[in-house]
Amino acid sequence: MAIDTIEVTAELARRHGADIHEFSPISKIDVVSDPVRIMTPTGWEMFDRVVLACGGWSTKLIPHLRKEVVTRRLTSMWFNEFHDGGLAGLPPFLRSAPHYCYGIPSRDCRSIKLGLGFNNHYISGDADRFPRQLEGGELLNELKKFEWIQQEMLPVLSRRPYRTETFVENYTRSMLEYIRTHPQNSNVLIMTGFSGHGFRVSPVMGEIGCQLVVNGKSDMDVSFLEKASPFFSILDPEKGITTDNPVMTNS
Ligand SMILES: Cc1cc2nc3c(=O)[nH]c(=O)nc-3n(C[C@H](O)[C@H](O)[C@H](O)COP(=O)(O)OP(=O)(O)OC[C@H]3O[C@@H](n4cnc5c(N)ncnc54)[C@H](O)[C@@H]3O)c2cc1C
Repeated sequence: MAIDTIEVTAELARRHGADIHEFSPISKIDVVSDPVRIMTPTGWEMFDRVVLACGGWSTKLIPHLRKEVVTRRLTSMWFNEFHDGGLAGLPPFLRSAPHYCYGIPSRDCRSIKLGLGFNNHYISGDADRFPRQLEGGELLNELKKFEWIQQEMLPVLSRRPYRTETFVENYTRSMLEYIRTHPQNSNVLIMTGFSGHGFRVSPVMGEIGCQLVVNGKSDMDVSFLEKASPFFSILDPEKGITTDNPVMTNS
């Protein structure tokens, strides 16, 4: 049985008294009001404190973030092996040089999920302005980015994927998390820019966020996040265009 971690976490939160409003997109945050006002599908609602953690959509609600984080569309593709036994014994892998990619074979080692790095993700300043269903030319463009893996690393793979999915993520220039209060209102905490590794840090991030929003401070020092050196520059914040990210060596 597959258990969805997020559903389990939400259920635990409910049991501890959380009120969860599913499928309720927030269209605006009025950060200058006190209490903070939020536009929900049923109108403005007021909150003493707000944590904004909208992943690649965060920049839509807090536009100044575009100077600090960029949104990308990621594509994962799943391929069958072309010859029986071609993937036998292959472990999950992450290759960082000379080009970045990772692969997770299926349990029966007959197929594999492949993913690429930052420099190969689709560039956009707006998470709602790119196609999420890949078809025709869009699908071919994405497939081309995986061809070197098929040719150089895993020639045992069939040429066409049997499954393709897209995802949305956002990245800071240091590839470290963006955990800061809003410059105009310290009651609004922004937690975003998880840069491809938000899942593994989510328990501690949850704790840090909770401490910051309840106590105004955390016993875990996150000041290093703001001081971290950047790896790339944001050339066009509106379009999300950046220089290459040398940490991810796909070029
Ligand atoms: C293919 C893939 C593989 C990955 N592998 C790993 C891995 O192995 N290890 C790891 O640690 N991390 C991994 N990550 C990264 C990790 O999934 C992300 O860093 C993490 O999910 C980011 O969390 P988030 O809460 O910031 O954003 P999200 O998970 O994107 O959640 C944001 C949520 O906010 C909602 N939302 C957006 N706008 C609004 C709005 N206006 N109103 C209300 N809700 C809104 C969205 O619907 C979404 O549910 C992977 C990511 C991808 C795409």
